Amino acid sequence: MLTLNYTYRIYPDPAQQSLIQDWLETCRQVYNYSLREMKDWLASRKSLIDRCSLEKEYIIPAIVPFPSYQRQQDALPKAKKKFPRLAEIHSQVLQTTVRRLHDTWENFQKRSFGFPRFKKLGQFKSFVFPQFKTNPVTNFQIKLPKIGDVAIRLHRPIPDGFIVKQVRVLSKARFTQWYVVITIESDVSVPKAPAHGRAIGIDLGLERFLTASDNSSVERPKFLKSLQSRLKVLQRRTSRKKRHSLNWEKAQIKVAKLHHHIANTRIDFHLKTAHSLCEQAQTIFAEDLNPVGLNRGMLKKECVDASFGQFLSLLEWVCWKRGAYFSKVSPYGTSQTCPKCKVHVSKPLSQREHLCPECGYQTSRDHAAAEMVFLRGLENLVPKDFGEWKLPSNTVLSGAMSLDKWLSRNAQM
Ligand SMILES: [Zn+2]
Repeated sequence: MLTLNYTYRIYPDPAQQSLIQDWLETCRQVYNYSLREMKDWLASRKSLIDRCSLEKEYIIPAIVPFPSYQRQQDALPKAKKKFPRLAEIHSQVLQTTVRRLHDTWENFQKRSFGFPRFKKLGQFKSFVFPQFKTNPVTNFQIKLPKIGDVAIRLHRPIPDGFIVKQVRVLSKARFTQWYVVITIESDVSVPKAPAHGRAIGIDLGLERFLTASDNSSVERPKFLKSLQSRLKVLQRRTSRKKRHSLNWEKAQIKVAKLHHHIANTRIDFHLKTAHSLCEQAQTIFAEDLNPVGLNRGMLKKECVDASFGQFLSLLEWVCWKRGAYFSKVSPYGTSQTCPKCKVHVSKPLSQREHLCPECGYQTSRDHAAAEMVFLRGLENLVPKDFGEWKLPSNTVLSGAMSLDKWLSRNAQM
């Protein structure tokens, strides 16, 4: 079973827009109401049984069970009779809204952080139609239950053999732009390509966006930088306006639109880079992102982290689509090890050169890291029962190698 998410821009007419906004607001209230119920129940269990609760406003008898997903979902039909507003919404959309709260809650229990929060006005930006009996998408429209036919820009067709599983309706840029994320599914299983062809390792960095083990590199694009500084100007202008005034709202929309534009431009850059890597090699190794935070003591690390994460998942997807092999390797110490003699060479972040005191190997810091990624990737490929093995001597020198001969030789052993 293969599942993909395709995002398309939609253009609801003014009536549809206000309907979608109404739905989002009702969903928000349902979400907050259900969360309130959950929080009250939890609060009522906190006070000791033999004492009268003085601080607690709500006293819920001990026999009342926890408001589980099933209970809250079952309560929806009754609530609809009381609040006719709820009945205007497609019932499955309401159910998935409650489901969303419980997904957050269950994740919180697993990881013990990220307790579900109340959504403020305007913070609830999407809802989901979880089921479709027939294909709702034509070349220029998508049929959304109870909302009607909405114009869609189908910039790429839904591939043959896939069926529409669910549709998420999503607002961007403060309810001025609209999208649908269509989840499509196919029974056809596409096997992951085996490692083959030319292999490289890549290192992501701040100075250059990407350095490969064959010493090719991709610069950080200038247009993103200039867009970022434009964003700063707009944000400064917004901060000078009176909060919630008409001009403030207008400026906010401008900021939100630019954010959105930057995100799109970045995705575009990431996709192009991923495609050009696939032209360069058929087997690609990359560092897994360091879960502790980037090990290189970087500025604005959350921002960079998120961008690298996005690039790696797009790269994985592009590799899969183009039949290339992709694999992540452990990031620990890649920038502190000499790729030639494997000696530990510690260097501060400011030091951009790698110069090995043992073997005298000299190259740029990022290139040395990429070569280490490459070597680790190859190590992971070797089946364990082959025991000791050595790379052909030319591998390390070129930082890229053809795997085909090497793998077939190893398989014969
Ligand atoms: Zn060395």
